[in-house]
Amino acid sequence: RQAAFRTDLSSLLTQVGTGKESLSFMRQRMGRLAMQWAAAAHHLGLKLHHRWREQKKILVHVGFLTEESGDVFSPKVLKGGPLGEMVQWADILTALYVLGHNLRISISVKELQGFLGVPPGRGSCPLTGPLPFDLIYTDYHGLQQMKQHMGLSLKKHNRTIVFYRTRSTFSDWFSFKPVSVIHDNYCCYSAVSCTVCHIRVIDTFGTEPAYNHEEYATLHGYRTNWGYWNLNSRQYMTMFPHTPDNSFMGFVSEELNETERHRVQQSKVNNVAVVYGKEASMWKGKEKFLQILHRYMEVHGTVYYETQRPPEVPAFVKNHGLLPQQELQQLLRKAKLFIGFGFPYEGPAPLEAIANGCIYLQPRFHPPHSSLNHEFFRGKPTSREVSSQHPYAEQYIGRPHVMTVDYNNSEEFETAVREIMRTKWFLTVTKPKAIKLDESSNYWVEPYLPYEYTCEGMLERVHAYIEHQDFCSPEAPFPPENASRVWPGALFTLLPNSTLLGWARNTTAPPYWPPMSALRLTASAEGQSCVEACQTSGLVCEPAYFRFVNNKEALGSLEVQCDVVELEMNHIFPAFSVTQRECGLQKEALLFSCAGFGAKYRRVCPCRDFRRGQVALCRDCL
Ligand code: UDP
Repeated sequence: RQAAFRTDLSSLLTQVGTGKESLSFMRQRMGRLAMQWAAAAHHLGLKLHHRWREQKKILVHVGFLTEESGDVFSPKVLKGGPLGEMVQWADILTALYVLGHNLRISISVKELQGFLGVPPGRGSCPLTGPLPFDLIYTDYHGLQQMKQHMGLSLKKHNRTIVFYRTRSTFSDWFSFKPVSVIHDNYCCYSAVSCTVCHIRVIDTFGTEPAYNHEEYATLHGYRTNWGYWNLNSRQYMTMFPHTPDNSFMGFVSEELNETERHRVQQSKVNNVAVVYGKEASMWKGKEKFLQILHRYMEVHGTVYYETQRPPEVPAFVKNHGLLPQQELQQLLRKAKLFIGFGFPYEGPAPLEAIANGCIYLQPRFHPPHSSLNHEFFRGKPTSREVSSQHPYAEQYIGRPHVMTVDYNNSEEFETAVREIMRTKWFLTVTKPKAIKLDESSNYWVEPYLPYEYTCEGMLERVHAYIEHQDFCSPEAPFPPENASRVWPGALFTLLPNSTLLGWARNTTAPPYWPPMSALRLTASAEGQSCVEACQTSGLVCEPAYFRFVNNKEALGSLEVQCDVVELEMNHIFPAFSVTQRECGLQKEALLFSCAGFGAKYRRVCPCRDFRRGQVALCRDCL
């Protein structure tokens, strides 16, 4: 069946239901943004020339909202608890629905079992017949529940796929069909549809390959409470584009049309600041900054309280209490400054503030926070270094919308506040330019929202993932020995930097996504990861390409001298050490990692281009 864009959300709203504060929050959000989604669907339809898209059967199992996982979030929705996750799930559900897919939503283990056809009381692996879904979106809680209640086991050896024919010609390779799957205690519905490759895990902060591979994580100290599921790392979908090892799912923020932009311009008040932090604990120990800020600005807060002003919130602060999202937007439309004090990390609110024309001021973290040095990140399956409260705002948006300063230095902090007070820029979206305003006019910064956080941007990205990401079909040959056997000769006419793989021009090449035409090979500096190395060249690391550059030909094209070439399970490989003339190739596909780096190594990095404002997709990716 064809998937047709939907613009009327009423049946989705019914499906989401009520009964929990979290669900009501999500429904309200969906309703509020309905018009925006509808307009986005219309634009995307035109952009895709209404091409035929298959309607997928999709199960969304929101593990963290299930009673079985304790559902600690729902009771806190109206009390200043985290809302970012709810924002993201609401937007994922809406995107899937608007794209026209056939959706089932589960927020309990019972519903999950019902949708998957597990007979009541049957615990382990009772499933037969084909998996009734093309895709399952869940989270770590949901994965755990599938394992516990349905015997789903994701051990690596269970993923072995047996092919029924072994022709070695290039174009036939991709048409092979897996016919049986070796498994024990594994909830595979049938030989050809193995559950695990259909799963997508919504994972706010991300999971790096070293933490995902069970055996490697256990042996090398990367084992955490969450990781080690042996998925393809791109099956983890994050809230921000943290590491390209994972897929960037994101969420949306409200967009202003021309009239609203104009209205915002009228409503801005030069000296209004809103503090980021809806829970009193986020204000603790910040008196000094609040005092400085108060010298220049009227300070507003949206801190939850029951009866009295929380002691952490000084008397001069105009506290509105926790506001409904819509009212928060109104407040942000008046404000000039949205100010973060370090927590929460990486939430949606700064993007909303910037989208409503605020300047976002936030602390730089020196040293950066990470799972190695900070309680909040401890046990999270990533070594990512968080350089400020909101690294996306810092790195992808930056000045003049975002200012990241050292809060340990009160002078630097105060200088930033003064600069914000003086800001008289009128900005266009593409190029900041200063224009003269007379002294009486309002001071404001033009609202800005990166395309990837608009409804259209999210629809475009989710569409591309659904259309092209396939973790069930056999991947291109790996390791390298097989590659040369299957794709002999012309395989790697690789030249250093900005060159294409020779065979990508071969018209008989199988379609690969992202298309091979986007591949650019580069070598990182010593101690640098591929995330950074690609970024330095204005590109992004693409883990899907690792298997094509994990070979001697690629090393050769980078003019690397190797006395020894090791083939090893090591998340830093492919890489080389210049001083020791040692080269390392990767033995385990699951360990290909953009994020990995090692002090004495230079990485071999497959980079690609990306669409402006849509880092998840290359130029020819749609
Ligand atoms: N929010 C709200 N009312 C408020 C403050 C915040 O509805 O008074 C919403 C805000 O619009 C945002 C969401 O809470 O979409 C999550 O905000 P935050 O960035 O604080 O992330 P969290 O820590 O909640 O995940």
